[in-house]
Amino acid sequence: MREPLPRLSPMLHCVYHPIYSQLVLPPSHGFPITKYRHLYDHLTTTVAPGRLLWHRPDSLDPRRLSLCHSDDYANAFLTNRLSDKAIRRMGFPWSETLVARTLASVSGTCLTAELALEHGLALHLSGGYHHAHFDFGSGYCVFNDLVLAAEQALTHPGIDRVLIFDLDVHHGDGTAALCASRPEIISCSVHCESNFPSRKPPSDLDFPVEKGVGDSAYLQTVDQALTLALRLHSPDLVIFDAGVDVHKDDRLGHLQVSDEGLRQREQLVLSKCRDSAIPLACVIGGGYDRDPDSLTRRHAQLFRAALTLG
Ligand SMILES: [Zn+2]
Repeated sequence: MREPLPRLSPMLHCVYHPIYSQLVLPPSHGFPITKYRHLYDHLTTTVAPGRLLWHRPDSLDPRRLSLCHSDDYANAFLTNRLSDKAIRRMGFPWSETLVARTLASVSGTCLTAELALEHGLALHLSGGYHHAHFDFGSGYCVFNDLVLAAEQALTHPGIDRVLIFDLDVHHGDGTAALCASRPEIISCSVHCESNFPSRKPPSDLDFPVEKGVGDSAYLQTVDQALTLALRLHSPDLVIFDAGVDVHKDDRLGHLQVSDEGLRQREQLVLSKCRDSAIPLACVIGGGYDRDPDSLTRRHAQLFRAALTLG
């Protein structure tokens, strides 16, 4: 029988670094790089100014990348020796800032997992790079922070199994491939079937949903997925990718999840992990609305749900 988690502190442990939004991208680039700063500003000024405890990650020691990436790929990225094709697939033009931002952000998810193990719950204002594979980056993902954080958590005594629960609208293909040979890390993905990436290597648990699915069917699937994953695998830590690109107005989503549906989803995941006394590390994942206010409000739902957790 699992020991109950300590009563949640009224302070919410959050991880953020200003460099997340400091990458300069061409005006035509589709990635909303300013969303991290907007979310930080929104949380600190509007949502809960007095209840957020901020942690800033150090840069990741690049040697730790070898836990789940090839040395050739990691070194090529770090020293600007990737091919043009590899850079296109990754989705960001190479720069020194991209390297610094990537190492800070991956480190941020590792720190969030550490804080979750210590305090029961922690949230990262970045992360969710689930398309990053062993030897290549893809779809705006350079290194797989989710698997790296899981690997790090597994080095703690008593942490024998980690669940990566991925609700970003896109399938976590990189996570699935990296976890295929790691029975201690369980990958579970609820995603839109007819969406990027076209090739979806199997996760431990996959729950594809069809284009156009709305709140009721979507929430039912999420509930089933998490219930099954917890029952089958009894994880000692859950890493939750709370991508909001499932929203009906997201440019890359193809689902019909409303604001209220999103609110209920975050509530469901947080409550279920809390009720099962499992530490929970959250990352914000994807979200691509061009309107910064709408996108910020969607990502903020996760933090609002965490603040109302009893
Ligand atoms: Zn996505």
